[in-house]
Amino acid sequence: MSRSATSPRKLIRAVVVLAVLVIAHLGVSYWLYDLDDVLANREGKGIPDGLTGPAHITPLRDGIFLIGASGKNVVAVIGTDGVLLVDSNEPPELERVQAALDTLTDLPVRYIINTHPHGDHIGGNAFFARDGAQVIATRSAAARIREDDAANGRNGPPPSGTVPDTVFDDSYRMTFGPHTVEITEIPDAHSEGDAVVRFVEANVIAAGDLFINEGLPYIATDMGRSIDGYLAGMGLLIAMADDETVIAPGHGPAGDMARLAETRDRLAGVRNAVAFRKGLGLSQKLIILTYPAHDWPVSWQRYGVARKWFVKAVYRSLQ
Ligand SMILES: [Zn+2]
Repeated sequence: MSRSATSPRKLIRAVVVLAVLVIAHLGVSYWLYDLDDVLANREGKGIPDGLTGPAHITPLRDGIFLIGASGKNVVAVIGTDGVLLVDSNEPPELERVQAALDTLTDLPVRYIINTHPHGDHIGGNAFFARDGAQVIATRSAAARIREDDAANGRNGPPPSGTVPDTVFDDSYRMTFGPHTVEITEIPDAHSEGDAVVRFVEANVIAAGDLFINEGLPYIATDMGRSIDGYLAGMGLLIAMADDETVIAPGHGPAGDMARLAETRDRLAGVRNAVAFRKGLGLSQKLIILTYPAHDWPVSWQRYGVARKWFVKAVYRSLQ
């Protein structure tokens, strides 16, 4: 047999092998995404407090606590004559959050700071402000909450029941007990009128959804937000923190600077992988099948969205 006679056969074999590999890859991608949907824990499995158990309390520093219920966080600061909350969770978690709070203090809630207008952060406003708490948010977050409350859940999240009565632009500063509280607006990042709350002396930051620990963030493209805006917002958050800062995420366990930076870098990795493929002219469907989020840890889908959804949102939001 001459060399020239075997070459076409080798070529055909190579093509067949390549085709099998491509089909296998696509099949594995589909399978992995199915697995993601299971691991993303839509049912709340894997979240420390599950969907029904007692809310999970993590002491942070200087009377500041993280209270997680169904993966949704409230930060509670216990003062001498009252309590300050950052975010208020939503039904049906409120009784569980209250029960956790009851184990820490019987003082009334005096302040609620909303980090942004999404339902899982404002849905407990009326419940926790029942003793007349002051509710604080950025002007644009408050406007959105008012709009959603007026629509009464018809075209948005369920109403907060209590719209923020203290609004600000850019930044707001107050004292609460021994704490200097600095609220800083982070524009065009996660939703509308996002803010992060810094407890200066304690060196604790409540990040809202600019930090999801062990989860992928929801990119609110419906509110005009993008992955690049989100990453820029995370950059501002990182600039506010140092190696000793305790960072309370909107969802997931408390974290530190190292985890925050790792999360930002991993998100940027997925963003860059999607951007590269989009630059080659690949369609969204094809990009999903090339699994650009393969570096994102499988178990880091508990508290946010699944990888497939995230890739779609990144693709949509890239210019
Ligand atoms: Zn959230």
